[in-house]
Amino acid sequence: MNLKQLADYPGYGSELILHEEVGEERAAREDLLEKMLLRLQEMRSSIARGLSSDEPSRTGMVGWNAKTLWGADDKLRAPLMKRVQAYAMAVNEENARMGRIVAAPTAGSAGTVPGALIGVGDHLELTDEALVMPLVLAAGIGQVISQRMFIAGSSGGCQAEIGSSAAMAAAAVCELLGGEAKAAVEAATLALMNTIGLVCDPVGGYVEVPCVSRNAFFAVHAVSAAQLALAGLESVIPPDEVVSATASIGRLLPPELRETGEGGIAATPTGRRIALKMAK
Ligand code: SF4
Repeated sequence: MNLKQLADYPGYGSELILHEEVGEERAAREDLLEKMLLRLQEMRSSIARGLSSDEPSRTGMVGWNAKTLWGADDKLRAPLMKRVQAYAMAVNEENARMGRIVAAPTAGSAGTVPGALIGVGDHLELTDEALVMPLVLAAGIGQVISQRMFIAGSSGGCQAEIGSSAAMAAAAVCELLGGEAKAAVEAATLALMNTIGLVCDPVGGYVEVPCVSRNAFFAVHAVSAAQLALAGLESVIPPDEVVSATASIGRLLPPELRETGEGGIAATPTGRRIALKMAK
C-alpha cells in the first residue's frame, strides 16, 4: 500500500490498516486491538514514570526535563501544549534512563506519538479505548513510510526518525479528532514535509541531546499538522512524493549528520567536551 491508496479510502484510515493487518497476520481483529491497547498502556506507563522521575540519565545530560516542565507554571495558559511536550519528553527521558518504552517507530523518536496522541486524548478526557484505532493508523503510516525510506537516524538523519514519528502522530491525532483517511494522510504529509532536512546529531552519540527536547517540539508539530489538515489544508506535493523527497535528502546527508555524533551540535566545543568526558 502507498499513502495515496490509504488517502483514497472512504472512511477512517485505521479501518483499512486493520483490515490489511488482519489479512496479513491471520489474526482476529479483537486480538490485534487488544495488542494495540497493551502498547498504548505501555506508552502511558512510560509517561507516568517519566513525569515523576528526576533521575539523571547515564550521561547526566537529561532526566529531569519532563518533571520540571510538568510542575512549572503555565505562563501561556496553554495546557494542551504543555501536556504534549511533557508527555513526549517523559517517554524519551525514560528511554535515556534505559527504562521500558514502546519504539514508535524508533526508541529515539518514541515520545512523539504518545506525547501527541495521549496528550490530546487526556486533554479531551478521552478513554484509552478511544485512542486505540488512531494508534493502529499511526502504526500503519509508519509501516507505509518505512517501505519507501529509512526510518533510522543513522540511515536518513533525524528527518527519517522524528519525521516518521511526527507523521504517524499527526495522522493519529487527526483521526482522533474526526479526520477520515484523506485528512489523516494530509496531516502525516504536512508533518513529514516540514521535518525535511533535520539532521541527526546526538551529543556524544547518546540519544539524549537534542533528542529529548526534539520529541517535545515535534509532538506539538504533529498536533499542528493535524489541526491544519482538519481545517482542510492540503500538501501541494502528493504524499508519496514527499516520502521520496525525504528519502533522497537522507541519501544526500553526509555521515557526520547521521547519528555518528560528529556533526551539528555534537561537533560544537561543548558537545565534543561532553563526548570526551563520557568516553573517559
Ligand atoms: S537526533 Fe538522531 S538519535 Fe536523536 S532523535 Fe533525532 S535521529 Fe534519533
